Amino acid sequence: MKTIGLLGGMSWESTVTYYQVINQQVKTRLGGLHCAKIVLQSVDFHEIEQMMNAGHWGGIGDYLSALARSLEAAGAEILVLCTNTIHKVAPRIEASISIPFLHIADATANEIKRTGLDVVGLLGTKVTMEEEFLVERFRSHGISILIPRPAERDIVHQVIFDELCLGKINEISREAYAQIIARMAAQGAQGVILGCTEIGSLINQAASPLPLFDTTILHAQMAVDMALAQEW
Ligand code: GLU
Repeated sequence: MKTIGLLGGMSWESTVTYYQVINQQVKTRLGGLHCAKIVLQSVDFHEIEQMMNAGHWGGIGDYLSALARSLEAAGAEILVLCTNTIHKVAPRIEASISIPFLHIADATANEIKRTGLDVVGLLGTKVTMEEEFLVERFRSHGISILIPRPAERDIVHQVIFDELCLGKINEISREAYAQIIARMAAQGAQGVILGCTEIGSLINQAASPLPLFDTTILHAQMAVDMALAQEW
């Protein structure tokens, strides 16, 4: 079994989910007392958020690249960046390490393709929804992405930062997300990507009119697939 390097804390609420899902998956697949080999670097999200607000993406890339290298030095054999938004600087991080970087959009796209869908909605932070770094990656897999309307994007974004990253679950926000998903269904979406690692704590399949693709779960599962793969 390979050692998985988690670059987390963005926010820690979802890094907990990564840790839990990865260990549960290894236990399910190998049985007994088996669990995952993990090294974790967990940042203070306040510092990252300050840099995001200042548009200092170069600083984020440099900082996280240094931490990714420290994970590799600590024995990580796969790198998992536990956030969608920060995949904006994925190329910078990937270039700084020599271990495989497991891209969150590839993990998600593989599952979307497996289910035969090709037009899906994307919920996430404004950066994730409005910029090209994830949308383009999905497009390269043959998947068309729909994003919510501007006012809906404001709601989705605010709920992430003001509630979910702080561990708050609000019934009104859950209903708002469900309505946005229903509206995207009317627009032609066949499914919806939960393109922020905290959204799965708010809404699940039972509350959604469309199939959901939770990036956190799919990313964590793919990390386990790689860690347990025989061929390398
Ligand atoms: N964890 C979130 C994501 O997956 C949002 C917080 C962040 O900006 O990293 O995009």
